[in-house]
Amino acid sequence: MDEKIFVTKPSLPPMEEYMEMVKDIWKSRYLTNWGKYVRQFMEELKAYFGMEYCMPMCNGHMALEMVLQAMELHGEIITTPFTFASTTHAIVRSGCTPVFCDIKESDGTIDEEKIEALITEKTVAILPVHVYGFPCNVERIEAIAKKHGLKVIYDAAHAFGMTVGGKSIATYGDASMFSFHATKAFHTIEGGCVALHDKEEALRVYQLSNFGIMNEEEVAFVGANAKMNEFEAAMGLCNLKHFEEYRTGRKEAYDIYRTELSGIPGVRMLTAYREDVVSNYAYCPVLFDAQTLGVTRDDVKKHLEEHNVFTRKYFYPLTNSFDCYKEAGFQGKTPVAERVASQVLTLPLYSDLAETDVFRICELIKEAMGIRR
Ligand SMILES: *Cc1c(COP(=O)(O)O)cnc(C)c1O
Repeated sequence: MDEKIFVTKPSLPPMEEYMEMVKDIWKSRYLTNWGKYVRQFMEELKAYFGMEYCMPMCNGHMALEMVLQAMELHGEIITTPFTFASTTHAIVRSGCTPVFCDIKESDGTIDEEKIEALITEKTVAILPVHVYGFPCNVERIEAIAKKHGLKVIYDAAHAFGMTVGGKSIATYGDASMFSFHATKAFHTIEGGCVALHDKEEALRVYQLSNFGIMNEEEVAFVGANAKMNEFEAAMGLCNLKHFEEYRTGRKEAYDIYRTELSGIPGVRMLTAYREDVVSNYAYCPVLFDAQTLGVTRDDVKKHLEEHNVFTRKYFYPLTNSFDCYKEAGFQGKTPVAERVASQVLTLPLYSDLAETDVFRICELIKEAMGIRR
């Protein structure tokens, strides 16, 4: 390919729509600290999710830290290592201990049947990750959490705009964190939010995200600064209007990948576990089985790079093999996650990725495997 194609490209609304809001922000000189656009964005998110509480934040990572701290969790949190660094870091930085549960080969989400064996008297919560555009088994996880009196906080960084069983994915669990980073299916440049059910926890997230300051003279909590600003909220409001167009564009590209790469022994696209899921087509993960193919995932990646196509290994390495956690001795064996991480490649996917480019990428992949059409 002549032009470089990256794994993603941020979706942008028509510039005039954004500039109109920017002009208004300029006039008001109110740039951050829960201004009018952040409050409007919060209201629109609440309506969109069908949730009573939703707090826009400066990014997804801080949103996750704020909600873990707001819940005053101390102890073990069952999670998976098949995720972005943020999930595990947020648990550790909040003073809790991650316990790693394995994932399902089918879709990369937590293997709900392996959760209960990891529960101890120290377990306080389950923190599963909806990966790529595939939801966790939310009903089963809820049943386990109820039975053992545990909180459920979802890392829903990948999952904006998804529904499961006709309901927004944000409604499941005690809370969900969404990332609105520029590389996600829906973005506010940098940003994120916490959607939650409990009023007290929502209030605490708000207070913690503003240094724990209660009023001019009282500081009640050891908080941080996790506020979203007006420019980010304006981007969010504009992108929300166009989200269905973005989703459609992604789906079209995704469907071509699906057709073109199906039926090749050793190549597998992950799939959602049930029919009643509306995905956002956030990523296009493909597993390359070196034993069947005779070429490795890394060989495919290199071949694509030689032709200006840049893929990513989401998620490799697993968070439980990071240098910073080598000495920590966190519990949990995750052989399935190790295998998936060694085989996965996420292909370029964004709303205005040209059809001809998708076909060409598929051809390059087949070429890499020596089965040129
Ligand atoms: C992007 C991401 C985050 C962090 O979100 P930021 O907005 O970048 O802070 C957390 N978890 C997962 C799974 C992510 O992909």
